[in-house]
Amino acid sequence: MNLERLAENLESVRSIMADAAARSGRAAGAVSLVAVTKRRSGKLVRALMALGERDLGENYPQELWEKVQDLADLTVRWHLIGHLQGNKAKRTIPMVRMIHAVDSLRLLKSLDEIAAAMTNPPIVCLQVNGSGEQAKHGWSPEAILADADEIASCRSIPVVGLMTMAALGTDAESARPTFALVRELRETLRARTGFALPHLSMGMSGDFEAGIEEGATLVRIGSALFEGVET
Ligand SMILES: *Cc1c(COP(=O)(O)O)cnc(C)c1O
Repeated sequence: MNLERLAENLESVRSIMADAAARSGRAAGAVSLVAVTKRRSGKLVRALMALGERDLGENYPQELWEKVQDLADLTVRWHLIGHLQGNKAKRTIPMVRMIHAVDSLRLLKSLDEIAAAMTNPPIVCLQVNGSGEQAKHGWSPEAILADADEIASCRSIPVVGLMTMAALGTDAESARPTFALVRELRETLRARTGFALPHLSMGMSGDFEAGIEEGATLVRIGSALFEGVET
């Protein structure tokens, strides 16, 4: 494992993030990095933690459960960034600080029910399918506005923002209109729900600069951090 390369990659991602934040008129601290560790070893996670990373993202609940167990000695803030099936919600929810991809009213309501019995439930973002791809999870922009009242009625699980993914295979510039659309949608949903919705989770290795320039407060980055590290 090339630890120097990991440190360099992290440094480079952080500096691109800070520059993009400055271009969007925000402080570097206004945008958080979620290091995506899906399919990466526990050893690599430990190396990241040693470099000061605390916010780690996993896609698959099952893999998250295993990592939480194997790395119980570390203080990780876990983020679930992938699809959560309703039947895995109860076990997953106490392990995470944030769920990025709540993709249906049904899931949101079941999280709300579970959260009602918790003192410190995780915060959640709602996933918007802003690119219109069939294969993507999430609300269409029209559908999420139609559900605004029902979303607003969920008072136990804190809904803090929106998450989106650009269409598969697009570059940063073609991703930008999707990010801008979700930022505008956030304004409308804020007015309809009365929720502050401070967060936008937008941007991965290939498009996080554009995501930040369009208002992201969270970026989810995997490959750009680990390139050349696992040799
Ligand atoms: C894998 C994944 C990421 C990270 O993607 P990279 O291109 O490796 O940075 C971000 N978000 C989601 C939802 C993912 O599944």
